[in-house]
Amino acid sequence: MPTLLILILAAALVVVLWIWLTRERRLEAQVRQLQLELASVKAARNLALIEEQDKQQTVFNSMVEGLLILDENGRVQFSNPTLGTLFDLRHEIRGQTLLEALRHHELKAVAERSLLEGRVTDFELTLSGREPRVLQVNAASFRDRDRAHAGTILVFHDLTRIKQLENVRKEFVANVSHELRTPLSLIKGYVETLIDGAKDDPAIALRFLQTIEKHADRLSFLIEDLLTISQLEAGQIVLNQQALSLSEQIDQVIRDLHSRAVERQITLCNEVATELVVNADGDRFQQVLFNLVDNAVKYGRQGGMVRLGARRMNTEMVEGWVADDGPGIPPEASERVFERFFRVDRARSRDAGGTGLGLSIVKHIVQSHGGEVRVETEPGKGCTFYYTLPARA
Ligand code: ADP
Repeated sequence: MPTLLILILAAALVVVLWIWLTRERRLEAQVRQLQLELASVKAARNLALIEEQDKQQTVFNSMVEGLLILDENGRVQFSNPTLGTLFDLRHEIRGQTLLEALRHHELKAVAERSLLEGRVTDFELTLSGREPRVLQVNAASFRDRDRAHAGTILVFHDLTRIKQLENVRKEFVANVSHELRTPLSLIKGYVETLIDGAKDDPAIALRFLQTIEKHADRLSFLIEDLLTISQLEAGQIVLNQQALSLSEQIDQVIRDLHSRAVERQITLCNEVATELVVNADGDRFQQVLFNLVDNAVKYGRQGGMVRLGARRMNTEMVEGWVADDGPGIPPEASERVFERFFRVDRARSRDAGGTGLGLSIVKHIVQSHGGEVRVETEPGKGCTFYYTLPARA
């Protein structure tokens, strides 16, 4: 009997043990399964994180703005390549303070202000150097989940080009106003003098009226040139390019300017071979030649010679030139004569009826044909203006 009991108890123990072991194994399998699932969730999350970071990195790297992220201690955590270009950085700045990295006290103050005021602050920073730049800086501080300061983001937007354009526009408006006001006030002055009695002296009246006419002409030339410039700049002029005989075009301009050349005893000489043909818009090309020859007559030597020549440069282009034997242009001014309203001798240009826009119109027209303009000059020996235009095969 006791043996049977012992056997039953042993059997029961074996069964319990077997059940326990089976459960243990199942649990172990479940744990392993869960561990596997956890690992794959972690791997997926890491992958998503890496992808997200990659995406962020691509965005930051392709930004035209410079970007700088400071950690909660004010040390550089991240900067993008544009920032390196803007500040000409040649070394790693990660871990440095803002002052160490960019060396501008004003930036430190902007970052501190954004933290203090809890809003985005902005500031204009001027960088001096070989190529001065103007940057707009926006600084914003950010906080973590516990509302503690976690860092600052600084974004640098390059305003240099915008500022330059703004200055060019301001200068242009000031120049135009000045150019318009001068002849207008002269006209007004002469009219008032006529009204006040000068009209009763026929000789004086005639002289005054002729002066008024001269200034009125100047006004209308100026307005015409301004309209041409604005149409050329707005790209409103559609070129009607066609085969033009260079020599015939030059003859036409020589005829148009004949009487002015005679006034200054200047000989205009067409030295272009008859077979040279350019592919250009007739009216616009006439304007180019007219402005260049008109200048050579206005500023050239009284009794001198103006030569118009050309050569085939290659299969694509023809180079033409207008050469005078006048006083020439000082070397430092030879690049600037193509700028709007630039004159070497303001009084002389005005006196000769110049608007200061002739060469900038020439440059625009030639460039819109795909050509280039330049001047070669030797003070005292005259100057030669060169232009290139597409050749006609
Ligand atoms: P402007 O109406 O004053 O002639 P342009 O744009 O045609 O304006 O020329 C700009 C300036 O370049 C002129 O004011 C003059 O000082 C200089 N210039 C142009 N052509 C000549 C030239 N052939 N010889 C000397 N100076 C010239």
